[in-house]
This record gives sequence, C-alpha cells and structure tokens, in this order.
Amino acid sequence: MAIQRTIEPWSALLDEARADGRLVREAREDWAGSHAAKLVEPPSEMHQEVLAALARLGIERLYSHQAEAVHSAWEAPTIVTTGTASGKSMCFNLPTLDVLCRDPRARALYLYPTKALAQDQARALASFGLTKQVRPAIYDGDTPREARADIRRRANIVLTNPDMLHVGILPNHPAWAELFANLAIVVVDEAHVYRGVFGSHVANVLRRLRRIAAAYGTTPRFLLTSATIANPVELAERLTGLEDVSLIDQDGSPAPGRQIAIWNPPLRNAALGARRSALAEAAELLARLVRDGARLICFMKSRKGVEVLHKLVVADLESADPQGTGPELAKLVAPYRAGYTPQQRRELEGRLVRGELRAVITTDALELGIDIGELDAAVVVTFPGTVASLRQMWGRAGRRGRGLAVYVAGEDALDQFFCRHPDDFLERPVEAAILDHESSLIYRGHLLCAAHEGPLSHDDAEFLGPRWEAHAEVMLSSGELRRRAGGTRAGGTRLTGPANTTYVLRQPGAYPAAEVSLRSASPEHFTIVDVASGELLGSTEAARAHSTVHEGAIYLHLGRSYEVRELDLDRRRALVAPFDGDWYTQPKRETDTTIERLLDRRDALGVTLSFGEVAVTETVLAYQRKRVADHGAGGHTIIDLVALDLPETSFSTQALWFELPIGDTAAGSDDRPTRALANTIPLESLLGALHATEHAQIAVLPLIAMCDRWDIGGLSTNLHPQTSGATIFIYDGHPGGIGITRTAFARFEELCRDAHRLIAECPCTSGCPSCVQSPKCGNLNEPLSKAGARMLLERMLTDTLEPVLPAAAL
Ligand SMILES: [Zn+2]
Ligand SMILES: [Zn+2]
Repeated sequence: MAIQRTIEPWSALLDEARADGRLVREAREDWAGSHAAKLVEPPSEMHQEVLAALARLGIERLYSHQAEAVHSAWEAPTIVTTGTASGKSMCFNLPTLDVLCRDPRARALYLYPTKALAQDQARALASFGLTKQVRPAIYDGDTPREARADIRRRANIVLTNPDMLHVGILPNHPAWAELFANLAIVVVDEAHVYRGVFGSHVANVLRRLRRIAAAYGTTPRFLLTSATIANPVELAERLTGLEDVSLIDQDGSPAPGRQIAIWNPPLRNAALGARRSALAEAAELLARLVRDGARLICFMKSRKGVEVLHKLVVADLESADPQGTGPELAKLVAPYRAGYTPQQRRELEGRLVRGELRAVITTDALELGIDIGELDAAVVVTFPGTVASLRQMWGRAGRRGRGLAVYVAGEDALDQFFCRHPDDFLERPVEAAILDHESSLIYRGHLLCAAHEGPLSHDDAEFLGPRWEAHAEVMLSSGELRRRAGGTRAGGTRLTGPANTTYVLRQPGAYPAAEVSLRSASPEHFTIVDVASGELLGSTEAARAHSTVHEGAIYLHLGRSYEVRELDLDRRRALVAPFDGDWYTQPKRETDTTIERLLDRRDALGVTLSFGEVAVTETVLAYQRKRVADHGAGGHTIIDLVALDLPETSFSTQALWFELPIGDTAAGSDDRPTRALANTIPLESLLGALHATEHAQIAVLPLIAMCDRWDIGGLSTNLHPQTSGATIFIYDGHPGGIGITRTAFARFEELCRDAHRLIAECPCTSGCPSCVQSPKCGNLNEPLSKAGARMLLERMLTDTLEPVLPAAAL
C-alpha cells in the first residue's frame, strides 16, 4: 500500500531538518492516538432547561466522556483528564447547571488558579443563556468592595481562586452563610496546577472548606479536571481528602492528526557540549513557518525570551525577503505575555482567532485552557519542566484535523536527555503530581486558620485527618492554641458530651489566614518591592532569600528580570529594579546537612538508602555573574565573582540520603574486593564523582515527580560526620518538605537508571550543562567528575555494589 503523503505548509522545512539531523524524532499522533469523535445523546435525565439550552447552542450530541462525566458527577466525586480542547468544562458545567435548575437555593463554587481563567469560564457559563436560573459572579481581589455583598447574596455560582477562598471567604464564613448552607458543588479546574507547595496548601484549604460546609450542614460534590498526569485519582484524593474519586479519562473528542517534531539545535562543539542556542534556532523556524503560511503559537519560559525571540523573528522576516513581503509578514507576529491588561489580552486573542495574526509568541500565560481558536502549529522552545505541560502546549496545534507540534530543545540536561530518548518521553506515563498536605509548617498554618474559623474538636478528624490533635498539642505547647472545655462549632451547633474539649486560638483577635501565603512553604518570608514603581511584586521564602534575592542577584518574577538593589535583612525585604542587562547570577554557597530524624531505610542497588528529616544550614558567600553568549553561539562566559557578607540560615526539610560502602584497604584485608573501584575511582576525583552523581540525579528527578530542579537541593561529601562515610543527600528545597524526596526514595532505582543514562550518553568529554553541570550549584560546579559518576552509577546498577571507596579516602 502506498503511503499517502500530504503536503503541508511545513513539509519542506521538515524535509530539510530531517536531512541535516536537527529533526531527531518525528511521530504522527493519528497513527496511534487519534480517533474520530465518539458522540452520544445528552443524558435525558438532565433537567429540561439544560437540555433546551444545549439545543439552543446547537449542541445535539455530547462527546462520550462529557455524558459519562455527568453520570459520574451524580454518583461520586469525579476527576476528568481528557485532552486539551476536549470540552472539559462541559463535564462540570452540565451537572452544575442541572443542580441549579432543580434547586433554586443551591450554590456552586468554582476554583481557578488564575483570574484570567475565571473570566473565561464566566463567559462560557453566560453562553448557556440560562439567565433566570444561573447567576455566576467572579469574586477575587479585583472585585470592587461595593459589589461584594451583592455577590454573596445573589450569585449561585461563585468563581474564585484558592487564595481568595483561603484568606477572604473561609475566615468570614458567617457572611457567606447562604453559600455554605446550600453548597452543592465545588469545581476544581486545572487541578494539576495544585502540586508542590501550592498544592499542599490548597489541599488544606479544601479540607477547611469541607469542614465549614459540614458545619452549615452541606456535603458538596467535588468535580475536578486535570491535564494528563500519572496519578489523577491520587491527586484528587490528596487534594480533597475524599476517597473513591471516579476517573473519566476515555476521550470522546476527535483527536487531530498531529505531527510531532523534536528539534535539536546543531552541536557546535561536541567536546564542550555547546550547541547553537535554542532561541536562534527557534527564530529561524518560526520565520520559516510564517513565510510558508502556517498560523502558530510559540511558548517560551521567560518574558525576556519572548521579547528577544519576537525581535529575532521580525528581523529574520524583514531581511530574507525575496518577494518583498517581509515587513508585512513581520507585522503579523506579536508577543503575548503576563502583564498585559485584560483588554489588551482580549484584543490580541481576538486578532488571533480571526486570523489577523500569523504567530503569537507567549510565556505560559496562555498554557491554561483559554480559548484562542484553532492553530496550525505549536512550537515549544526549551523543555517546559514537565511532559504534562509540554503535551498541553502541543495540544494547541491542530486545525481541520491536522497540525504540527514542535519542541525545540535547549542545552539543559533534561532537554538533551529528551532528544536522546524521545520515544521514552513520548510514551512514558507522564509525571505524578506530588503534594503533602501534612507537611508540618504548611499543615500547622492551616490548623490555626481552621481554629479561627471554629473551635477544633473531636469531629474534625474527618476533615483534618487522624493526626490533627497531635499537631494541635504541639501548637498548644508553642502557645499558639489553647484548650477550652465545650464551645460552639462554626455554624452554631453546641459541642457537648465527653469529647467536648476544643482548641481555640490563644489570641482571639488574630487573623491567621493573613499570615499564610499559599505560594510559600513557610510563613516566614521576604517581600520583594520594585523600587521604580513602589509596587509589591511578591514574596520569597525566608529560607531561600539569601540565595535568590541577595544584593546584585538577577531575579526572575513572572517571566520578567529584576536586579536586586538591596536586601534588607531587618525589614525582611528586597528592593529590586527592572533589569535589561544580558547577564544572570549564580550564588556560591556553603551548605551543611544534619540528620534530625530517620523515617525509613532500605537497601537499594548496594547502598544504604534512607529517608528522613534533615536540617540544612547554608551561608551564601558570593555570587558569580555570567553572560549568555550571543544568541547564535550558545555557551556562557563568567564575568566576575562578587563577595557577599550574609549570616548563616537554617531550615528543616525532608531528604533522602545514601551511603556508599567503604572498603578497608588501609587495614589490608584482602577478603573484601575493594580494589576494583578503589582503582577505578581515583581518590582525587572521588568527591567530583559523588558531586556529579548528585547533580545528575537532581536533573532527572523531575521525570518522576512533577517539580522543578529549583525545588530540590543536594549535598555530597566524602565524609559525613553522622554516617561516617561518603554520602549523597538530596533534599526538598522547601522548609518542611512537600513529598518530592519521599517519591524519589520510593523510586530510587529508576532515578539512578535515568541519571546513568543522562551521563553515559552525553557526547561531551568531561561534563557540560547538558549532563552533570547544574545552573544552581552552590559550589559553582566544582569539583565534578563525569567519568567518576558514570563509574559509580554503573557499579550500582550492574550488580550489588561492592565496597567502592578505599578507607584512605576518608
Ligand atoms: Zn555533557
Ligand atoms: Zn553542586
């Protein structure tokens, strides 16, 4: 059978890239993943008004997963994880509208991670035209004060974000009594966003929500949606604290025949691992696609990157211009990023939908579900951190059943690993979203909030978990809570009987929610203020302030660069100014870890592997300024090293560590086969081997637990005072820890295998940014031994590790 070949606007480009090796992998989604739409009748049990509204919208049939979701929502808490643009919001809108049509008193609460998404959804709800039955309203930081009382009274769908629920709604539940006393449905859209620190907080906020609803006599049904992740049901259960969540993952929407192209910029210097920059490569690619007539979206990590790429594409279009249409084409390319006003965003989205723009270059501001119509191509420049979000960005491509999804690799370890194992990445079950609602600092912050919302009592185990009282006891001794006999529950019921001891706030006038930021692991933080505008940009955890916002640091906030002018330790704030220079900074640190509590231990790959709590002590000594070499070349040059004078900081967190067996060569006992590795890892490169192993493991950890390498820290030493031997620590970078290293402990073998492949397959001679060098290393990547790390991991993976280190190493 002849293979039918369709000529697409990008066919010639792909032919060329295939020939010169930049196209490292191609796949077509219509070979495996794609299918025609599965359409079914809307469930006839739905309220007549909802069925009529669907008919008015011209929707005669639903995708099968939408109908399944409606049935499931009637029975149990449900999470929907079908693809981008599969009509997921219909899955929770229909059951919600159904309930609201049946019961005029019923209320629903919709939670969105961003304000823009809430706006988008409010418009979608309005389109049903059920104006008599459905009164949606957005309640967030932008809602005018004078409108708020009316929303509390009238709205029967309140669209808000977790931050507002946490700090504005729950603590003021008496003002929201109508809502809580009639709360039928809680929608958590884009649930995969709630992972890590943010997710651990949101899990507590949702438990507080269930607790307050129960106090008003309601048990709302939770409906969630998520991008494709490895553990949707687990995520839903951990977020809500509920059990037996149903999963809807059989996508009934038609999948476009999307062509996937993985693109690696050409190697410029193999020994140094230097490649042409992803930015230069992407600019050429975009200009070419625009010229060839494709309509596309391109994703970049930083705002600055968006601007630079936009300039490069425009320059390319204007210069290489055989037909003289370049300047006209250049006008059809626009940047789009956070920081635009809602009107500007709407206008740009409108131009894109109407086909007045050929290309939009954006930060991930557009990643989350906003409807921008159908595009030919989606280009993702550098690995966005998780396969889940890569797929979501790719999901933007596909018009009239065809599309091109491109990924242009950067020089980072994960990017290059991806290029060498594209099939692995494309086929591997995507990452698991990890959170830990009981991480003690986070949990206790919310326990105080809960105590403020109503005295903590015996019944609260149902919502706050079986260990809540143990935590409360700790806070009793720290003086934050006090015990009281009897009391009134939130909502007004009197507590009586033998279990009537309650815990209340020590300071009755306190407002603990104001002290807890959902974006940081510890209540102690530094504020970041723009000196130019006086605007408060955000905050950073105190534990990280010295290394991220020290004087002179280049600090990235919402994709935008700032330079730190002053770090005021007493007032806990950093004064920053917008930065336009072409360098970045890397702090030099001295780190120590002390094991505080061993929680778990096992033998793995011949080493003793432990999991527990550690104290991390850190002094930031200096910082290096580095320049990203010009966009064509790749590579980084060091400008200088600037000394800092900062005090030591310390925080407790979770960690895994493993100890390498030590041979007793000094004693000369030859019944232990130590010589093999003692000879293969020379003493002088031992620390470098450990250090490079640690870096490689940290680089690949995001493959198993959805996190950023900046969320993880590490330390390697050839003699740790507590283990008395060579030890590698990998710790959660957030105070208290959020479960990342617990996952790594469980999947350590996989972590070592991936780390070994990362190192062994990198073409460089002695280590490069694509394998063992780390952009966040506190020792500025000194010492590192790529060969030593490879040897060490090979030994661990091939057989039970024999003693690898000579005692003399100590
Ligand atoms: Zn390398
Ligand atoms: Zn390091």
